[in-house]
Amino acid sequence: MGTQEKFDVAVIGAGVFGAWTAWHLAKRGKKVMLLDAYGPANALASSGGESRIIRMGYGADELYTLWSQQSLEQWKKLFAVLKQPLFHETGVLWLAGEDDSQLKRTATTLRHCKVRFEEFDRAALEAKYPQVSFEDVKKGILEPKSGVLMARRAVAAVVEDAVRRGVEYRNDQVVKPTGSGRLEQIATSKGERISAEHFVFACGAWLGKVFPEILGERIFPTRQEVFFFDVPADDTRFAPPALPTWLFQEDLFYGMPELEGKGVKIAYDGHGEPVDPDTQSRVATPVARERARAYLERRFPALKGAPILDTRVCQYENSSNGDFLIDRHPGMENVWFVGGGSGHGFKHGPAVGECVTRRILDRAEAERRFSLATKAKTQNRAVY
Ligand SMILES: Cc1cc2nc3c(=O)[nH]c(=O)nc-3n(C[C@H](O)[C@H](O)[C@H](O)COP(=O)(O)OP(=O)(O)OC[C@H]3O[C@@H](n4cnc5c(N)ncnc54)[C@H](O)[C@@H]3O)c2cc1C
Repeated sequence: MGTQEKFDVAVIGAGVFGAWTAWHLAKRGKKVMLLDAYGPANALASSGGESRIIRMGYGADELYTLWSQQSLEQWKKLFAVLKQPLFHETGVLWLAGEDDSQLKRTATTLRHCKVRFEEFDRAALEAKYPQVSFEDVKKGILEPKSGVLMARRAVAAVVEDAVRRGVEYRNDQVVKPTGSGRLEQIATSKGERISAEHFVFACGAWLGKVFPEILGERIFPTRQEVFFFDVPADDTRFAPPALPTWLFQEDLFYGMPELEGKGVKIAYDGHGEPVDPDTQSRVATPVARERARAYLERRFPALKGAPILDTRVCQYENSSNGDFLIDRHPGMENVWFVGGGSGHGFKHGPAVGECVTRRILDRAEAERRFSLATKAKTQNRAVY
């Protein structure tokens, strides 16, 4: 490519947010370049995990419920077109103990947004899921139409379709842009220059490294560890439809049934230590491993002693409160920040991509909670 070619938009970062942004821009007929330093949903990226939950429940946060609804439709449509079955409708089961206030808020919002769900008391849960120990659980809500996205393959599918729609994809690292006012070009680490009308930086946990002055203290990457435990070959109690995906927010644990022979997944949603996505160790720690095992054995006594099949170490790219960041650079009018997925962003890829596209092409109004102005330098998690 020569330095003369000019794109309408250059999207930097082919995680779920950048991939869907490029896809939506291409759908609107724009000439788009998508770049990633390591490849779409690579093993360092937050989108590079095997699987991610897509659920509609968000307490009273109706905006995220609506975005999940819209996103699930788009995910399913894309997978149908590509004939790639990357969504598993496992159902998602919310569990609550003594404090059921969040569950009640979720039920109210789901009702309002016309999301189908079923409610269970403890006795009903025990009758329906005898393989689970509901110690400390008082109630549950099941979203039967929600489930799991096969994350890294799903992003690869979005990029594949975006390329089919004309997006030019490149494996290249983009260096930090400098200057003010209008940005004309970005440069890759190989010294090539790319010109565009707009630049979208969807760099996940790297946003703070690319824009240290503005985002270095506003994006908080934390270490997160995920474990997959083996299930005996003839035991169907831990696969769908017998076991749904589940979340117990009071304990900050969640998990998935066995999918595609990868074992039962268990993860702790509490924020781990601050990390650098380029240098953090991707080897699971004994402390996290034992915590996951203890939880597995507490909830699923029949899996006591189950071997670990796989582990993943990744990072959340948290904003101060868990709300996304979708806003302009304060000093460069045609540069956009997109990120802050904060441990729950994956499912929303389609809605985020559409939102960014509408902001750039239609000058759509900004949602205040996604603005840079609301991103503090201290963490106070409020979105779950
Ligand atoms: C363990 C774990 C479990 C999670 N579970 C869920 C879940 O169940 N449900 C859910 O909805 N969400 C979940 N999330 C959150 C979700 O995965 C993330 O919010 C989402 O993937 C973030 O996507 P992104 O595109 O912003 O970032 P990323 O996927 O990190 O993508 C950023 C990309 O930018 C590229 N990049 C960075 N700098 C440069 C540069 N200078 N030049 C070129 N490229 C660059 C990187 O290589 C990377 O590919 C989870 C996250 C983790 C870590």
